[in-house]
Amino acid sequence: MNLLDGKIVSQAVKDRLKIQNEERLIQGKKAPHLAAILIGNNGASETYIGSKVKSCAEVGFKSTLIRLDESVTENELHFKINELNNDFDVDGILVQLPLPKHISEEKVIEAIFPTKDVDGFHPESVGRMVQGLPAFYPATPYGILLMLGHYNIETKGKHAVVIGRSNIVGRPISIMLNKNEYPGNCTVTVCHSHTPNLKEICLQADIIVAALGRPEFLKSDMVKEGAVVIDVGITRVPDSSKKSGFSIKGDVDFDQVAPKCSYITPVPGGVGPMTIAALLMNTFKACVAKD
Ligand code: NAD
Repeated sequence: MNLLDGKIVSQAVKDRLKIQNEERLIQGKKAPHLAAILIGNNGASETYIGSKVKSCAEVGFKSTLIRLDESVTENELHFKINELNNDFDVDGILVQLPLPKHISEEKVIEAIFPTKDVDGFHPESVGRMVQGLPAFYPATPYGILLMLGHYNIETKGKHAVVIGRSNIVGRPISIMLNKNEYPGNCTVTVCHSHTPNLKEICLQADIIVAALGRPEFLKSDMVKEGAVVIDVGITRVPDSSKKSGFSIKGDVDFDQVAPKCSYITPVPGGVGPMTIAALLMNTFKACVAKD
């Protein structure tokens, strides 16, 4: 079993971006600038945003964190997004999800200019991605592709089974894994909460992407010998032995499944850091497009 180490691969991506950014600065060009909006004080969102801001600093990108109160109105939020859309210095905009219930996620995603949509959630980005046109790929699936590429994992002709069909992970990774270039050219099966015979389908998989948000859902009797397993899940489960009171669990029962795999991602330290690396890649791309 080999570990797909997201810490190592994300560091390699960041090291490359840092050098590319320094080259830009030497040429008198601006550093990429990410603007992030955080609403309320959800613990997990705070952690994700904190890592994104810190990672920007590590590679020499500029970042602006805008904190808005949980009670912010939809109009006020849209006003802020519009300000950032029209701020030439800002290259990428992200609004940390989930949003408070009174705010439409769909409208917020559509309010961000597609040229600054570094999360890759805007319908224009998704449409371009589906058609194989240059696009901002959603960060988590993009991070998975970067990881597969880093380890030279063969994907051509493989059967990939994706568990989950959300707009941010399951659906986009299923499309990206079947595109006509590396990493891709897989035959993809997408499973979801209404899929019967999930176990039988998973047993046929050369590559499994588990993105359902059910801790330790994927067991060893669902995985064939030699499979590549990508665990996207991040769930906080109560754990009194931890100072924080919780531990992070993936969607894969790692201890059981790992011995059967050729490659597997750990949680934490797998897909999570890759998501941030991919976000930085998108931010860099957004900035370069304006040169
Ligand atoms: P979601 O709740 O939007 O979607 C879950 C999907 O799983 C749905 O399509 C549902 O049909 C499917 N599903 C649920 N139960 C199922 C079951 N028993 N069998 C088969 N399919 C089932 O979740 P999401 O936003 O896609 O996130 C999934 C997980 O990935 C969560 O744990 C989330 O925290 C994590 N996540 C991690 C990262 C990262 O950077 N590592 C990024 C995004 C999401």
